[in-house]
Amino acid sequence: MPEGDTIFRAARTLQRALAGQVVIKFESVLPKLARVDVDSGVVGRTIEKVEADGKWMLLHFSGDLILLSHMLMSGSWHIYRPGETWQRRAIDMRIAIETAPFVAVGFNVPVAEFHTAASLARRRGFNTLGPSVLADDFAADAAIARLQSRSEEETGVALMTQSLLAGIGNVYKSEVCFACGVNPFRPISTLTPAELQALVSTARKFLQANVWDGSGDQIVTYGGMRRTTGSFDPDNRLWVYHRRGEACRKCGTAIESRKHHTDARTSFWCPVCQPMVTAEARRSAAAG
Ligand SMILES: [Zn+2]
Repeated sequence: MPEGDTIFRAARTLQRALAGQVVIKFESVLPKLARVDVDSGVVGRTIEKVEADGKWMLLHFSGDLILLSHMLMSGSWHIYRPGETWQRRAIDMRIAIETAPFVAVGFNVPVAEFHTAASLARRRGFNTLGPSVLADDFAADAAIARLQSRSEEETGVALMTQSLLAGIGNVYKSEVCFACGVNPFRPISTLTPAELQALVSTARKFLQANVWDGSGDQIVTYGGMRRTTGSFDPDNRLWVYHRRGEACRKCGTAIESRKHHTDARTSFWCPVCQPMVTAEARRSAAAG
């Protein structure tokens, strides 16, 4: 059975052969694919990218068309020169995509569907993203479980890993950690269940409060007002983000900033309000 790494290698092979090529012929015996109407069909589109996602293979065509396929037990993709003899029987052909230099043939591919980026995002069973913080049916428990699966990861990195929890960017990461009193460099394994719960619910609260603004420039978590006029002060929007060296709004300590090793994104935090807890300290505290 093809595993994720097999699909990954197959996708890489297809990517090398097909990326940038224009489709000159497309054939499929799969009824779902054959139904694509002529106007929005495949011929004439450029193959932009081929990639694997877990056990799924995605062929991205120009004009927001994606061919999603799954190999299950039996499927495989081959690359041939035009006119070259196939190594499998023609009757096993499910999809054939012809470009000038190469023909990609999917044999016994059991699952294949066309999608737009939007329909792919909605498709059940295929989802590259963790629970979306802003989704109506946001599953906090599922998000927490995914975060816990990365016990060694630093909290500030894990919160931005979209496959664990989708939607949190660099500003929110620092702001959420501050609001929860969690140092962003603490490994996930050091977080208490209450801290995990607080991080996830605060992220949702902060993002929901700001969802009206798509620019990212006006994210507000602190919401400071001008003392003199009582009007909103755009320089007083955030607790810690981009405030290195400035006074913590709770305790007055200078805000610190540092990049994470693994993703090189900077976190901002208050060393007093967000004390560091190492995995060793957590273990000895639990033991004592
Ligand atoms: Zn502080």
